[in-house]
Amino acid sequence: MIKKLIILGIDGMDFDVIKRYKEFLPTINGLLEKDKNPRMRSVFPADTTPAWSTIYTGLDPSEHGIINFVNVGAKQNAYRPLEFDDTVFQDKTFWDVLNQEGYSCAVLLPMNIKQGWEIKGLMITRPYEGKMHVYPASRESIYQPRIDILGTEGKFTSESDLPALKKEFYDKVNEEIRLTKLAMENEDVDVLFSYFSTTDGIQHDFWRHCDPNHPNYPGPNEFENTIRDMYITMDTFVGEVIKANPDCKLLVISDHGHGARPVYTARINELLKRGGYLVPKEGEKRVGKVSSKKKLKKIVRNACVGFVKKVGLPKWAMKFARRFPVWKSLFASSNDFNWAKTRAYLSDLSALKNYSYGGIRINDNVPENERDTLADEIIAYLKPIKIEGEEKNLFEWIVRTNTFYHGSHLDRYPEIIYQMDERYGGEWELGEHICEKTGFMYMLSPGGHRWRTALIVSNGFSLTKDNYEMTNIYEIIMDETRKKSMIHF
Ligand SMILES: [Zn+2]
Repeated sequence: MIKKLIILGIDGMDFDVIKRYKEFLPTINGLLEKDKNPRMRSVFPADTTPAWSTIYTGLDPSEHGIINFVNVGAKQNAYRPLEFDDTVFQDKTFWDVLNQEGYSCAVLLPMNIKQGWEIKGLMITRPYEGKMHVYPASRESIYQPRIDILGTEGKFTSESDLPALKKEFYDKVNEEIRLTKLAMENEDVDVLFSYFSTTDGIQHDFWRHCDPNHPNYPGPNEFENTIRDMYITMDTFVGEVIKANPDCKLLVISDHGHGARPVYTARINELLKRGGYLVPKEGEKRVGKVSSKKKLKKIVRNACVGFVKKVGLPKWAMKFARRFPVWKSLFASSNDFNWAKTRAYLSDLSALKNYSYGGIRINDNVPENERDTLADEIIAYLKPIKIEGEEKNLFEWIVRTNTFYHGSHLDRYPEIIYQMDERYGGEWELGEHICEKTGFMYMLSPGGHRWRTALIVSNGFSLTKDNYEMTNIYEIIMDETRKKSMIHF
């Protein structure tokens, strides 16, 4: 029996998608309405790894430091994958702190945790280096987690593999549900936390099949309801959890929202150039003539697009893009600019992923005491800029990062962060037009994370605020576990 609080973490579940399908999602939508549809903002950037780190610790990413930006302007220009081990979390997560206070916890399949560690209660880790760990080991026989199902990530997937890919997601969610149900039946603990992975992946891969407004929507198709049905699976399970644990409080959260990856691009570096903050390399100014290097880049890029169109949705390509600078150099060459004269440039995080949120770096050559003033000047310059042909501002939100976050890892961030109109992603290349109705990355992975539409709902207690930040979750978990009183409706 779970005595105090059950927390279900659903990766990538989006507030607006729930509202779109609300008549199919009576439980989660009902819980949303009970508390007047509270909103929750993810961390910046809205990536899975920093977001769950924040949920576990209550620290924002500038404080826990588990974020990774590639600085394209850096001299060594080398991509270093984010590396951390369990010691960054041990003793700092909500379950460790609750353990220290005498509460027992069952923690299932926690994102970000690798080998895991012995806790008071139960921990079952995610597949890592071919292994899943159960603590205490004596309980392995009860659960027998299926690594053959949960550890299948990274298979090549093409258009013709989509039915198999869909099945893979469903097998996974069924295994995640099976383990969670078993834990609810077998564990006698105060708090249970279980993480569900598939909502995010299925949206990344199937978005264009489910969204008639997407430029690559193939028309009515057999995958039309794939995303909706995964939401229904989670909604049904949340209903079952409430029914099976009527006296236990429940918190359901996601780490960020999900939507279409922007299909248009906005040339941020071109804007910076026009403002006098970025200077292109001399000798590449030949108007109307494209350098041979650029031509080659274009050919490679088009070949990639053609390849992607033909084979569909290669997950490995996204992995490859994250891992190797070769790929990066095709799209974000740092040789295009005069770095000695450039004072600001687009941060990698928007150029590579083509998300509508991103950042701008102040170049290292700007003296320390001028950086804030320059950042403010650039923000004042960019703020009123309209989308070409529209009355709408391109930037919905743009701030100096050190006015938003204050942690000791702030130096890992670009100096300016922004949210653009969600149709636009940041583009590295210079060009005649600021806004282009062409893109590229959305073909690799049609779904993308959203920052402001994470999910938070509760049962057995009330969420009283209209707007939550992801840093609030830790506190909610602590408060609701420590409260003496049981359910009050
Ligand atoms: Zn996520």
